[in-house]
Amino acid sequence: MNNCIFCKIVKGEAPSWKVWENETVYAFLDINPVSPYHTLVIPKKHFVNIFDISDFELREVISGVREVVKMYEEKLGIKNLQIVNSNGHAGQQDVFHIHFHIVPREEGDGQNIRWKTFPEWRSEFDEMILKLKGQ
Ligand code: AMP
Ligand code: ZN
Repeated sequence: MNNCIFCKIVKGEAPSWKVWENETVYAFLDINPVSPYHTLVIPKKHFVNIFDISDFELREVISGVREVVKMYEEKLGIKNLQIVNSNGHAGQQDVFHIHFHIVPREEGDGQNIRWKTFPEWRSEFDEMILKLKGQ
């Protein structure tokens, strides 16, 4: 993809702070970190998101996520983190080259991701499952 900032990073045409890579996957620090070592893990090939990435590449990326996590555990003692992946505009994806965020967390770090919940929707679960069965 010509105009993709993450493709440019992979090609070395835009700057990045690389933490890890292998043949298929590249991991680098997020330019607007929400915590120390906030990291993005991406496939070197361009895929928009979960809807178009191949099974092989997705497995490679998630294995890469784990490699970085293991490195952070071993070298930095990081034991708390969140892994976040957003897909589509309404899914709050901003960069349309699939990426997984690794967000190290600490007690009292002031960060918080909490969704609004709707327990009353439990009454619709049976109908929702039926829809999946095409009825
Ligand atoms: P998302 O909202 O999940 O699509 O996240 C996109 C992320 O990419 C944001 O956290 C940005 O800070 C990050 N980002 C955008 N451009 C760059 C860049 N050139 N280098 C590193 N991170 C970037
Ligand atoms: Zn790209």
